[in-house]
Amino acid sequence: MLFDELSQYYVKLEETSSRLEMVDILSDMFSRAVPEEISSIIYITQGVLGPSFEGLQVGVAEKFAESAIAMASGYHAEDVVKAFRKSGDLGLCAEEFIKKSKLRSLSKKQLSVVDIFRSMLKIANTSGTGSQAGKIKILVEMLTSSSPIESRYIIRFALGKLRLGAGDATIIEALSKTYAGSRNSKPIFENAYNICSDLGKVGETASKSGVIGVGKIRVTLFSPIRPALAERLPTAENILEKMGGKCAVESKYDGLRAQVHMSRGGRRARIFSRNLEDITEMFPDICKAAFSEIKADSIILEGEAISYDDITGEFRPFQETIQRKRKHGVQEKSEELPVHLFAFDLMYIDGEDLMAKPYEERRKRLESAVSGAGLIRFSNRIIATSAKQIEEYFNNAVEQGLEGIVAKDMGSVYVAGARKFSWIKLKRSYRGELSDTLDLVILGYYLGKGQRTEFGLGGLLAGVYNESKDTFETVSKIGTGFSEKQMSSLGKSLRAIRLTKMPARVESVVAPDFWVEPKYIVTVRADEITRSPMHTCGKTQQSDAGYALRFPRLVSDGIRTDKSAEDATTTKEIIEMFNLQRKVRVSK
Ligand code: ATP
Repeated sequence: MLFDELSQYYVKLEETSSRLEMVDILSDMFSRAVPEEISSIIYITQGVLGPSFEGLQVGVAEKFAESAIAMASGYHAEDVVKAFRKSGDLGLCAEEFIKKSKLRSLSKKQLSVVDIFRSMLKIANTSGTGSQAGKIKILVEMLTSSSPIESRYIIRFALGKLRLGAGDATIIEALSKTYAGSRNSKPIFENAYNICSDLGKVGETASKSGVIGVGKIRVTLFSPIRPALAERLPTAENILEKMGGKCAVESKYDGLRAQVHMSRGGRRARIFSRNLEDITEMFPDICKAAFSEIKADSIILEGEAISYDDITGEFRPFQETIQRKRKHGVQEKSEELPVHLFAFDLMYIDGEDLMAKPYEERRKRLESAVSGAGLIRFSNRIIATSAKQIEEYFNNAVEQGLEGIVAKDMGSVYVAGARKFSWIKLKRSYRGELSDTLDLVILGYYLGKGQRTEFGLGGLLAGVYNESKDTFETVSKIGTGFSEKQMSSLGKSLRAIRLTKMPARVESVVAPDFWVEPKYIVTVRADEITRSPMHTCGKTQQSDAGYALRFPRLVSDGIRTDKSAEDATTTKEIIEMFNLQRKVRVSK
């Protein structure tokens, strides 16, 4: 496929405000691709240069993109800078300058998608002194051979600002439509994605061996599995009933989720976060322990990494564990703040895929695969057959400074990438009432009045994720809970992702001063969930009112870097919490 053809599809994607239309456009686009190029097309559409867990972006700085546009069109860099100041979009500037280019290239070569992908990879992998000139050269070569529309997307992609608004779920639906003939086979594609977290691989497999091939995608070392998540219930009785009278109950540690992949032969260990970010660098000590404390040649296991004082047996607060998320001095920190991994699941060992085995078997295999006495321990647990046992275990956990408990269905498979009742959490912060916090995605912001204008931020329009529709719905405006420092840094981050219109996957009846790309998550506390016509969360064609928060306030220390937009609290969870709230009131 020529990059020009891909660009035409991107124009259409940008123009639509309907998600279903997006699926159709993407599916049309995928059906034009041959197997060798489908993964590149998917990655470019996602704005990356490989599976998103590798996080490889081109990352060209604005200044260099300006020079490249100037060189490719025969203008002065100052002309480009001026135009950029006016439009605020270097992609549009590139389009304008290539259109009025003073240079006529005689041997214009039409670029394919794969050509562009390879050149972008080359830019991303060029480093060291003097590398900037090399990067600009590659960019100029691409621009001189491209049409104005192509240059719009080349520049946006190179800057990491493609922002087509197509989320993973939308791409998955389009893949299902393309390769299985309808959206109905979506679960097969979703399942494959949950196992390998690599949409390029899913697309390529579909293109080469159809849905049957996609259904055969299995767990692979060093490709993170999308994590299983827990549902909530308000009481021990509810939990036991849901679990059928017997379940395992584990302590819920408030640290960082860590998925450890280790290959002894390959001398390689990697750790992925809840969000599938590679956080190996944060935990050199756990990597080392993986080789010495695990009795296997290769393994994928999961646990919670948490600062823990082995002498006093004290669990340290989340804020201390997260301090490892720094670039420098991790080695010193690892001595000062020892972290332990409390392992709770095993998904793969020595070539054997354990995802479909029952929890109890996975746990037993975990216990025999790890020594358990070093840095890697096992999550504490009991097998409970009465609500009283669960209650006592919960109280005990809270007394130790833990977050609460996670009950687990002993016969359940590992449910990758989904929030299901095979895991149910009960946290100390909520015993029925809405004192649980919510993770909301920022959809827009208000400038505010008075003193707040100086920060460029007065309040946020925040939303939840509707999993079944793959859209973001508004649930609250948030104006309190910010410190001055937070306001100014949030203001800065939001200005960088500002959009000129409401994105296609957002549903809202209110309009903030500025829309932003749904990207950042903040944690919010509220007194209550109420029904309100102002917000679209949970609104259906039959109902006038959606759900909203009463007295919302920001509690996270700024943006939560461990979650992405689709990890926000979901519409379904809000409705469940609303119903729980009512039940508790009735029983009181
Ligand atoms: P939360 O903010 O409550 O951790 P979450 O959305 O990140 O919410 P949940 O599905 O609600 O995730 O809760 C599961 C999380 O709890 C896991 O992601 C993991 O990080 C953490 N956790 C701590 N201890 C355990 C345990 N023993 N078993 C499973 N998960 C645990």
